[in-house]
Amino acid sequence: MFITAERAELFIELSALLGEDLLERALRLLDEWSFIIYYTADRLRSIAELSSKRNLAHVVRVVPGVNYCKCRYFQRCVLQLTDKEEGVEEGEQQDQDINRSNQVSFTCEHVLAQRLHWLLNLEPRAQILTLDQFRYFHNDFYED
Ligand SMILES: [Zn+2]
Repeated sequence: MFITAERAELFIELSALLGEDLLERALRLLDEWSFIIYYTADRLRSIAELSSKRNLAHVVRVVPGVNYCKCRYFQRCVLQLTDKEEGVEEGEQQDQDINRSNQVSFTCEHVLAQRLHWLLNLEPRAQILTLDQFRYFHNDFYED
């Protein structure tokens, strides 16, 4: 990726705001993952799809401008939800878990990578979806 002095400055500020780890993970996504934007025919609504170039089954969708993601990191560190499958009881145990991981984050690497992609004017592939297709992705995005 081409890094100008201006961009270097931006990354230093982002790193201070969001944490170095998260920023590094997001930058790795920019390098190693493909980005595609799905639009409705009127182009009013869009969903970004990030997919790993190495593992095509690894796909994450986010909505541009919306700070939400279905990934585990977002659920745990942003929403502060614990994993149900770990069988953690609510209450004390949950508090301990959060204290132990001590991770509170504003967003996840997918949302951040999508925003950086847009900020850096990296042209994603774009594809128009039918309303039905778009609804399917949209429902999938918000469904738990
Ligand atoms: Zn995510």
